[in-house]
Parts: sequence; structure tokens; C-alpha cells
Amino acid sequence: MSSVASCPGPPAAPRAPEPAPVVEPTPVAVDPPPAPLPVPTGAPSPVSSPRATAATIAAAEAALLGKYGEPSRARIERGVAQVASLWRPEDGDLVAFVTAQFVDAPAALDALFARFEAQVEQVDGLVLELQRAMRWNADVDTGPMLGVDDLFASFDPGAHVVSDLFATKVAFVALLNFPLTTLADRLRDATSYTRRQWAEARLTGRFDTRIPGDLAAAASAAEANADAYIAGYNLWMHHVLGEDGGRRFPSGKRLISHWNLRDELKANYADPDGLAKQRTIVKVMERIVTQTIPAAVIDNPRLDWNPFTNAVVETPAAELEADLPPVRTTSADREPDTRFAQVLSHLAAARAADEFAPTAPSYLARAFDEAELPEERVRTLIVSILSSPNVAGAAKEIEARLGRPLGPQDLWYEFGGGDVPEAELDAATRKRYPTAKAFAADLPRILTNLGFPKAQAKTLATHIAVDPSRGAGHAMEARRRGDRPHLRTRVEAGGMDYKGYNIAVHELGHNVEQYFSLYEVDHTLLAGVPNTAFTEALAFLFQARDLTLLGRPAPRGEAERLRVLDHFWNTWEIAGSALVEIDVWHWLYEHPTATSAELREATVRIARATWDQYYAPVLGGQGDTALLGIYSHTISSPLYLFNYVLGHVIAFQIEEHLAGKNAKTFAAEFARMARFGAVLPDTWMINATGAPVGSDALLAATTRALAKP
Ligand SMILES: [Zn+2]
Repeated sequence: MSSVASCPGPPAAPRAPEPAPVVEPTPVAVDPPPAPLPVPTGAPSPVSSPRATAATIAAAEAALLGKYGEPSRARIERGVAQVASLWRPEDGDLVAFVTAQFVDAPAALDALFARFEAQVEQVDGLVLELQRAMRWNADVDTGPMLGVDDLFASFDPGAHVVSDLFATKVAFVALLNFPLTTLADRLRDATSYTRRQWAEARLTGRFDTRIPGDLAAAASAAEANADAYIAGYNLWMHHVLGEDGGRRFPSGKRLISHWNLRDELKANYADPDGLAKQRTIVKVMERIVTQTIPAAVIDNPRLDWNPFTNAVVETPAAELEADLPPVRTTSADREPDTRFAQVLSHLAAARAADEFAPTAPSYLARAFDEAELPEERVRTLIVSILSSPNVAGAAKEIEARLGRPLGPQDLWYEFGGGDVPEAELDAATRKRYPTAKAFAADLPRILTNLGFPKAQAKTLATHIAVDPSRGAGHAMEARRRGDRPHLRTRVEAGGMDYKGYNIAVHELGHNVEQYFSLYEVDHTLLAGVPNTAFTEALAFLFQARDLTLLGRPAPRGEAERLRVLDHFWNTWEIAGSALVEIDVWHWLYEHPTATSAELREATVRIARATWDQYYAPVLGGQGDTALLGIYSHTISSPLYLFNYVLGHVIAFQIEEHLAGKNAKTFAAEFARMARFGAVLPDTWMINATGAPVGSDALLAATTRALAKP
């Protein structure tokens, strides 16, 4: 029972973290990483580390064999082992339980499966509805918020559902009667699974882990601490001095690491003094990763800091931010590896939980299990991008555009997009959509223009609720037939501006996917898509057609070429950080007693080696560049970064498949892909495009883009 979906991580550079279920897309999406599960040290198999004793297991098997005989032996042994691996003494008499709940006859098993499918849909759907109701006043613009609204919003009625289903033994009935699969099983058998077998795998997959409450609480606490650490990690840029000791940034500019620092660096390309600013930001990032940053300068507007010399002095009174008292300390003591202590807290929580996740008994295993792609596949895909000949081609073009040799800061170069005359578009969308209601009323036309047949467009429009949003906008799925996905869009007093419209069209893509993947999927246990990268890819297909829907020509030619190169460069950029993180977590499992200083040394070493191998040849900085360790995700939600790489390549695969198709075919293909449901990513992609998940489409598009400057 995952949380309320919305518009999580799309294939783009991750931005600052968002409040819980809401996410907001822009052409570059955002992404609330999923709550990671914890990891262990040993690797007990489901059978070798049972919670029940061998004697109890033998007695349970004997009881069932006596009742159903040899023909059922395989199912009996499997079911008992699956139950025993998560059974606890307080669950009571295991033999009595399996004797009462084992189902043998095929017709009875069908009835049991149908019951589970129906009940799980109700649990998912109604929990989500309650959550949506509790968040209503925080998410939807209902006027001034009351102090209590944020507290209601933080109430998560789904938090204990899995644990309650174990306590009531409902979960054990599923584990006793249907196969629990590992990722390796699913990958091996993907081509032979029936739809019913996929649905059974999704049913038991909900119950593959049973983390004791105290361990789950410890993991949540580690996450909350890391989030708070990151949320407070700001730099006051007026007080960060340049290489020449001068001030380069205006007062009042407070940037959170690393998102804002990265975005500021990107924005500096348009600034005549930009290169000096960018080098200053790179130096700040290096100091953060290597933990040579003075602790006193973090989120402190009273100290001036030169990241090149590492000197710290009190800010002169004339340069103080308004209304700030002067501070006494000018300590230059470095941050004491606090950054890496956060990661060690995640590791401790993860290792404690490992033995309670029999099908994926390590944090690494669970991260790739979540994405349903094995680590070797992900690694190969990452390396195919890092080592692509397109890197040199793209670097050459950037160098020509900048008129100077590239440096480490150009890791975040932006190719820029098309020139959309935004003011003119603002006027058009404000006039067309003075309210959220007006946008809702236009849904049938929008959907028909996208190519959906009239009747289908009407069905879709009546099944999507549109609400005025407090934030930038998001999509909230439904999980029970009879309920509706919600589209949240922000409409200012003067009407919806173009940015708001662009986001609303993106969200509509999510909602349409959410309708097809719930209402038209054959098994509701398969509702949804394999992971967030897929729904983002589908939402971007809608978003890319937003101008056409306004009756304007779609961007093509040079704008399209730059869009492709920008995607490629972004993917290449994040691929290195993702690879570093994977290697760091292997090192952690090999050194479970490491100190935070040792983890810092290992991280810096791995980041520099990865830089030297893949980045230094085009960006320089050989030997001492640790920038690939800067992502805040690695501190707050470890091992999520590689999902962004997957997001980029998945988006390109789907785009390439639909390129040049007329509207009718586009809509029909969209529906066909979306109603296939939450199977393995490769299985989904083969159904959608004929090929498994891979980087070929992105690399081929990039090669074409580089061929015709
Ligand atoms: Zn989205």
C-alpha cells in the first residue's frame, strides 16, 4: 500500500524535495523518493531463517499432507515456508492456522483469489480516499488554512495497514496459498506468466516484508533526521566570497544544497560574471562533499566565508542582512562528517531490518527490487550512457556555444529550450481558463484533440475531478473503481497562466493513465504502472502537446534538437552520481562498522575515481573533483538516484515509439500502454514498444541531434 501517488519523479534532474504526496511537474520534474526500506548483513533465505521452528514447520506440513495428500506437496511446502518465514510467536498456533486456511481445490482457490482482489482494492481505494480527505485543505485552495490543517495532512491512515493485515492474519492467508516471488523469479519467468500469475505475484509481494514496529520507527527517525539536516543546509550567498575575496551574490540569496546551488549555477550561464560565480559554487560543493566546509557557515548569514581559502570572518555591519544581530563565533572548525553520519544511520536501520525481508535481504537488494530491474542491468545501462561517444560530441558543441574550454561546472550546462513567447501565451490561457472549472469544462475538447474518440473522451472527462490547487499542481490517483483521479491545478486571480496550463496538461496525462490503468486493467491487483518513471513518461507525452492544444504549432527543428541534447546531458550528469552511490553502498555493506570519517574518505575516493574515468576527459578536474557526491538525495533517501536515469531512458523509448504518429494512433497507443498495468518494467516496455528497458532510444536520438547542428 504505497502512499498516495501523485506526480512523482519524472525523468529529469531532481529538484528540491516537495511536501508529501503532492508533487509538481514542470518540464523538468520533481520527485519525492519513496520511503526506502531498511537492509541487513547476513542473507537468510525465506526457508533457512524461519521464525517458526523446524518442528513446527514439519508438523504443519504433515497436517496438510495428511489432509490433501502427495499431489499437493509442492504447494503445501511452499505455503508453509512462506508463512513460517514471517510468523512470530505472538501469532499463535501455526499448525492450526495453516490447517484452517490452506485451500486446495482449484475452484476454491479461484474464489479466494477473487476475494483478495476485491478486498485489497477496497483497502487501497478507501485508505487513499481518507488520506485525500485529510489532506484536502492542505492541497486544495479552500481559502485560508487553519493551524490544524497541516496536522490533518500529516495523518497517514495507510501507515499501519500492512502491519494490521499481518496481525489479522489476512496477509498469512495470501502467503499460504499464493506464491511469493523474488525479483529473480519474476525476471526468469516473465515471458511465461499469465496475467493471473502476475496478479498473484503482486498480491503476495505486498507481504514480502514484515518489519517489526520498533525497527520501522527507527528507520523513519533516521529519515526524518536526514530530512531535517538537508532542509537546514543552506548557504547565504552574499557571504560566500569569490576567488578574489569579493562578493559575487546579492544579499538575501539563501540557497539550499544541492538543488538551489545547482539551479543557481545553471542560471549563471546567462550572467556576464557567471563563470566566476559558477566556480565559486563548485568550490562550495567540493567543500560540502569533502566536509572541509566550516560548520559555522552553514545557514549563517553573519559570517563571511571564502571557500577557496576557507577563511571565515565576521560579516562587516554594512554587509549584514537586514535585522540580524552580529554573531560572536568565527570558528573555522570543519563540519565533523555530519553528512556521512546521516548515511550511517540509514545503514544501521537498514541492516536491522534485513532479516525481516526474506526476498530482498539488503538495502541494495530492496532498492533494485523496488525498481524491478537487477543491479547488473542498471549498471550496464548507466555505463552505456557514461561511456557513450555522444559525450564527446555534446561537449564539443557546448564548448563551441560557450567559446571557452569546459570545466567541472559545465556538468550542469543547459542547452536551453525553444523560445516560447510566454507573455502572449499567458494572455491566451488566462482568457481561456479563468478558473479551474473552466479547465474541467474543456477536458472533452482537449482529449478529443489529443485523438481520443468522442465517447472515450467523455468517459475520461467525467472520471477526472479537477480541483484548484494551493501548490503548482499535481495528480492524485484513485485506487478503487468508483472513485476518480484528481487533477490539481493552480489558477491565479487573473486566470491560469501558461506555466500553470503547461503543468495542468502534464497532470492530465497522469490522470488519463490513472483511469486506464485502474478502470480498464484486467486485474485490479495490477492497477497502475511498473514505477513512477512510467507515469511520468506518459504525462510528458501530453505535456509536449500543450501548444498544439492551444491551436499553435508544436516546437520542432532546433528547439527539438536542443531538447534532446539537454535530456542527454542531464542523464549523463546524474548517471555518474547514481553510479557513485551504488558503489558507496557496496562499500558500506563490506565495511558495516565504518566510522563517518571512513565513509567520507571512501565516498570522496569513489567520486573522484568515477570523475576521472568518465568526466575528466571532457570537463577536466582530474584527480581532485568530488562533485559526483553532492546530491542531497544520497543523504535523505539513499539509492533512489538511479531511478532518474531510468526515467530519462524510459521517456525516450516511449517518445520514439510514438514519434510521427497521428493523433488517433497516439491516443489508441496511449490507452493500450496504460491499461497493461503494473507488471515488470521490461514486460511493460516490450508490450509498449517491442523492446525491453534500455538506453538505445536516448542514445540514438542524441546521435541524430548531434549529426545536424
Ligand atoms: Zn508528473
